[in-house]
Amino acid sequence: MNTKSIFNFIRSFHLKFFLKDFPDNIAIYFHNIESNRFNDFIDILKFFNDLNYKIVDPSSYVKKDNKKKLFISFDDNYYNWIKISELLAKNDFKATFYTNSGAFSDIATKEYLNDYFNRINYKKDLRTISKNHLITIYKDHNHIIGGHTVNHFNLNGIKYQNAINEIYENKIHLEEIINHPIYHFSYPFGMRRYFNENLRNYCKEINYKTVCNAIPGQLFNKIHNYDIYRTMWDFNIDFISNLNNIKVDGRLFHNLFQKSPIG
Ligand SMILES: [Zn+2]
Repeated sequence: MNTKSIFNFIRSFHLKFFLKDFPDNIAIYFHNIESNRFNDFIDILKFFNDLNYKIVDPSSYVKKDNKKKLFISFDDNYYNWIKISELLAKNDFKATFYTNSGAFSDIATKEYLNDYFNRINYKKDLRTISKNHLITIYKDHNHIIGGHTVNHFNLNGIKYQNAINEIYENKIHLEEIINHPIYHFSYPFGMRRYFNENLRNYCKEINYKTVCNAIPGQLFNKIHNYDIYRTMWDFNIDFISNLNNIKVDGRLFHNLFQKSPIG
């Protein structure tokens, strides 16, 4: 069954069934989306729209209310962000783009970008957006820009002072570029072991309003005022498997084993 017919199948017969099992608040992050998956991507968002999820910014997402909310985000400066952000805007969807200020195409050397994509373990399209692209994503496509550190290092693997510089300089630089305060942060690599309480407090001190992680299976966690638990959408696995990942309630598992219940 191809993706389209799966969507139709689900839309026509299974809406109620699916509705029952999803958490009310769903935060998904995407890696790069190749252009041949753009239609699938929009279909995914429409699928949740059909289930009455409203696509929101991070501030609305962490508000305590009984609304069904979907928070969509991207990390890591991929060149395709230009197309993705435009496509989202055309469909009236808002997303948050967590950006590394060291990896813009107009300031980073080829060598730097090779190291960068090695760090994030991505091997396909080794291009990144420029500063002007970021302005377009923010101003013309009307999305939210978030911080993601300067260089995408493991913040727990470097000295505390260096880690806070990574966070602070990134925020300041992005604010200069888009000429607007940056309120939302996601830390590199996303799992619990790559961040700590001191850094979380530091983010609060410099006026970050939310901090995103990438700890899967935690969408049933009560919304905290500050932390956003995100689950990855993986285009290498099928649609149903991704939906099942969203439905995993890994709270107990995680507390017992400090490990992800997914993959
Ligand atoms: Zn990242």
